[in-house]
Amino acid sequence: MYKDEALVCDQNMCTGCGLCINICPVNAISIEDLSYAQNAVIDSAKCIKCNRCHLNCPQKVPVNANKPIEWYQGWIDNSQDRKQSSSGGVAYAFAKGVIRRGGFVVSCLLRDGRFMFLATQDEEELKNFRGSKYVKSDPADVYKTVKSKLKDGNQVLFIGLPCQVAGIRRFIGEELDENLITVDLICHGTPSIRLLKQFLKQYDIDLEKVNMISFREKQSFSISTDINLIGPRQIYDRYTLAFLNELSYTDNCYSCNYACMERVSDITIGDSWGTDLATEERKGISLILCQSHKGISLLHDSDIITKPVDINNAVRKNNQLSRPSFPHKNRERFFKYLDEGKKFNRAVLLCLPKDCLRQGVKRTLLPIIHEK
Ligand SMILES: Cc1cc2nc3c(=O)[nH]c(=O)nc-3n(C[C@H](O)[C@H](O)[C@H](O)COP(=O)(O)OP(=O)(O)OC[C@H]3O[C@@H](n4cnc5c(N)ncnc54)[C@H](O)[C@@H]3O)c2cc1C
Repeated sequence: MYKDEALVCDQNMCTGCGLCINICPVNAISIEDLSYAQNAVIDSAKCIKCNRCHLNCPQKVPVNANKPIEWYQGWIDNSQDRKQSSSGGVAYAFAKGVIRRGGFVVSCLLRDGRFMFLATQDEEELKNFRGSKYVKSDPADVYKTVKSKLKDGNQVLFIGLPCQVAGIRRFIGEELDENLITVDLICHGTPSIRLLKQFLKQYDIDLEKVNMISFREKQSFSISTDINLIGPRQIYDRYTLAFLNELSYTDNCYSCNYACMERVSDITIGDSWGTDLATEERKGISLILCQSHKGISLLHDSDIITKPVDINNAVRKNNQLSRPSFPHKNRERFFKYLDEGKKFNRAVLLCLPKDCLRQGVKRTLLPIIHEK
């Protein structure tokens, strides 16, 4: 148990956005990862009590948010690029457009075992951003780069989770806001990277040695890496089962302030679940919500095919536009099992026995179905 003054925000409620680390003038803050929660811990020996961390933390002082003013469903106007992205590939289309107009793109990729953020003007590098990574990423190292690019008069597009957009916007402030465009992802919640490492370890995969990891191919959710494909594509592996069943996120995700229609970004993107465009669905369709005129301009300046969408239906089908995820009833048990040293897959089996059994049956039947 921490004393109140030892933490930036309430115990176990840190999103890991990394703003406090960047705003602290004496490098007194670090993020503690407990797997089931994170904390922004203040080193009292270094702290000069300037209070900047408390006054700026988006968990304590919310960042301005707005409701969408325009909404669409759509996809990138290039079938190969659409195929390579998780959903409709609109994030990639925004990024390409900004680079072609001379700006920088800042987003998340896997490098040296970390889901880190990078600023780039290189179209080849953009390919490494593609794909949803269903794990907590760490933007802390990129804040100062974003600020310096903006100070030099560059346009910067930041694509990330809503809690990360909130952190970046607070750090940049109104003065430099004009050239910053933000895109956030509708977010279900994120597990700690420690869980992903524990899961991969069972297959002798060291995340540091992985160059490519995929969590999803369109509607098919499962993990594969350049070292090892964990299971057949049509079967949920145990990491994916834990993720989709809301078993494995950090504590703060279950009371997420951003799981609503008031968005902190210029554009919000997600999947267009419940779409009326049945023939396009398997190819990936994005839901696109524009909160600002800056966002609308970015959309119209990008190579994206847009179609009208029924917003009420989209909200109904996408829970995280109206409420945070609910913790699974066995979530506490899950982390207790891991703490006791049970293997990741075993802990999931004990908490989600029916789901695991269903996937086991599917795995057995799959070769028979394919034989026909
Ligand atoms: C943890 C998580 C939970 C999600 N939950 C939902 C949901 O409940 N409902 C829904 O409709 N959509 C959800 N999404 C969004 C969806 O999976 C797609 O990422 C989104 O629709 C963009 O698709 P795209 O084809 O345009 O993106 P792509 O062209 O594939 O690019 C994806 C972009 O997102 C960035 N990105 C990917 N993972 C992360 C990450 N962990 N942290 C920061 N940035 C990241 C990439 O760097 C890249 O810029 C979630 C995404 C994530 C990462």
